[in-house]
Amino acid sequence: MTRPAADSETEATGRHSDVNAVVGSYLRDLAFAQPSRQKMFGYKRAANAILALEHPLTDLVERDGRLPKIVGIGPGSARVIYEVLDTGTSPTVERAIDENHKRPDIERRRALRRNFLSRAEVMRILRDPASNGPSPEQYRGDLQMHSEWSDGNATVAELAAACQARGYAYAAITDHSHGLKIAGGMSMEEAAGQRRAIDHVNATTEAGLHLLQGIEANIGLEGQLDLSLAEAATFDLVLAAPHSRLRKNDDQTPRLVTAVENPYVRILAHPRGRISGSRAGVVAEWSIVFAAAAARGVAIELDGDPARQDLDHALARQALDAHCLFALDSDAHTASQLSYAETALAHARLANIPADRIVNCWPLNRLLAWLAQPSGERRS
Ligand SMILES: [Zn+2]
Repeated sequence: MTRPAADSETEATGRHSDVNAVVGSYLRDLAFAQPSRQKMFGYKRAANAILALEHPLTDLVERDGRLPKIVGIGPGSARVIYEVLDTGTSPTVERAIDENHKRPDIERRRALRRNFLSRAEVMRILRDPASNGPSPEQYRGDLQMHSEWSDGNATVAELAAACQARGYAYAAITDHSHGLKIAGGMSMEEAAGQRRAIDHVNATTEAGLHLLQGIEANIGLEGQLDLSLAEAATFDLVLAAPHSRLRKNDDQTPRLVTAVENPYVRILAHPRGRISGSRAGVVAEWSIVFAAAAARGVAIELDGDPARQDLDHALARQALDAHCLFALDSDAHTASQLSYAETALAHARLANIPADRIVNCWPLNRLLAWLAQPSGERRS
């Protein structure tokens, strides 16, 4: 019987098995095997509930072998959980897939769940003393988050307060730029209004959180950004990220290299644009992209959104070998999603990235110096 892709790598490397990811994967399979949309949503909700648990299901089982009540888990989902806890697999799910003739679609989805960590596994990795990677205490600020100025739902002030509560020294608000209409991209006029809001937070916030105005620029099909150089120059930090052509198999190395070579880009954000169980994202010769980024001091992002986890630890290790810098960001769209930064930290720990190579672990003055690198080091 085939097991979900989420677990194949952990088995191969002998690493700790991520039981919540295995259960979450089976519940997603069951969702996509349903003939009715309503049932599909129910199992998707159940999968999300398991993937978001702070503890592995194996720790939650009580003495009598029963699970405590978990919000979002009905009897159908509970049955899958017990099967996986008992046998490592779910015959119920496998049967549903075959009965509804969904095998090819499910196998495709399973292949798109490689190297995704559950929240419980993220928590375990953060406590694991075996890693040489960054500790949560070394993480000083988050450099990708979205506010109400584009597709986020919090105000700049609310995000700043939440970042302060997390003990950050700095943070960057990075709303979408005007080319990405679907995500409510900001016009330059709006960006000027947002700048005033950020200045106000910096002027009034006690105990010094330094808030930066960043922008998530969209990478066009030829690698060009949806910001002119003059527009890019008005922001403290420019991230470039792909949001289109993420389901194609053609090589897009030149597209990403062109984006990285833009003189204002400091972070290549969610470099692939992959989504768990849905799409693989950009296909590229990553060694070439990473070399271009390393040559220009552009940081490669580990995006901590649980559905993205992009880069994951396996590809991050290649970027480490290419001498890249890294940014570990939450890509939060609400204040509570700032905790997604921990997913990025977990992947960095699995990849053993030294804190010195992670821009979020630098003190503010070093970060600002990197952001203001003389244009001589950029393309002249
Ligand atoms: Zn994005």
